[in-house]
Order: sequence, then structure tokens, then C-alpha cells
Amino acid sequence: MRGRSTEEKYMSATDSSHLTVSEKPCDVDVLIAAGWAGSMSPLRDAAMRLRRIEQSGSLAGMGFIVDILHLWLKSEASVKGWKTAGKDCPEKIIKPVLGWWLDRTCKHCGGHGHPVIEGTPVLNTLVDCEYCDEGSARLSDVVHRKYLPPAEALASKLEETAWHMFGDMNRMLRYNDN
Ligand SMILES: [Zn+2]
Repeated sequence: MRGRSTEEKYMSATDSSHLTVSEKPCDVDVLIAAGWAGSMSPLRDAAMRLRRIEQSGSLAGMGFIVDILHLWLKSEASVKGWKTAGKDCPEKIIKPVLGWWLDRTCKHCGGHGHPVIEGTPVLNTLVDCEYCDEGSARLSDVVHRKYLPPAEALASKLEETAWHMFGDMNRMLRYNDN
């Protein structure tokens, strides 16, 4: 198991079909660490499930993630004074941010970072795609400008939460190794 990242271990552990402590001690350790790291807050739980969706390609559990993020965004917005589209918040902000999170490939250039020369399959590498950053879609391309502040805050909160969570899992797994 050494040499693999905590995230990879987590993904492979959640894929294990039959899991008992005696058969798969490593996987069980990883799942215990994941459960512990994910149980610290609903946001961590959401970030953990999101990572799972990202790796598996199955959208199971997405509704739960949307609900958690909606609650977080509502309370943040009340403090920061952001517009969050009321009951349309999930459709206008949360789902677009989650879609962007899961696949940042620019839809205009297919992630190449350059436009295709019209009428040909050839990329015009002399010009950068005007909709993205080197093939990576911008949040402003998926969320209306007036909802950008909450959308950006949500994206960075997810980033931060995932970073802390996998950091905690790493520390816990290292502790177990000793
Ligand atoms: Zn592009």
C-alpha cells in the first residue's frame, strides 16, 4: 500500500467488495480514517462523497451533497450579503459549481486551450481560447456574474475542506503505521 496517496487508498478501499478486518486490514484502516475525517463536519462528509463521485463517475448521493452545500451557502450569504437566487440557488449556483468541480474541461475548446480553425479539425495554436485558462473552464463560464462571489467562495471552501480532510487522513494513517 505504500507509495499510494491517501485519496487513492480511499478510492480502492471503497471499491473493495468484501471487507472484513482480517482479510483487508489496510482497506479497513483507510475506511476508518475516512469515516473519522469525514465525520468531523457535514462539509467534510460532502467533500468526501464528492471525491467518491469524481472517481467513480456515478452521481449517487449528489442530492445529499447539494443539500449540505446549500445550507452552508445560505448561512455564509446571510453574513456576507451575497445574492444566492433564493430557492433557485441549487440550480443557479450549487449544481453548476459541482459540475465545474467534477469536470473543468472547457466546453468551447474541448480542453485544448486553443480554438479550432473554422471548417477544419486543426487547432489554431497562435490564439488562446477566449473562454478558459489553458483549457480549464472558468467559474464565470458556468455561473452568472452576479452569483460569482458565492460560487467562488463555495469552490474554495470545497478545496480547503478536501485538503484538510485528506491531510487528517494522512496523519491518521501514518500514526497507525507506527
Ligand atoms: Zn477553452
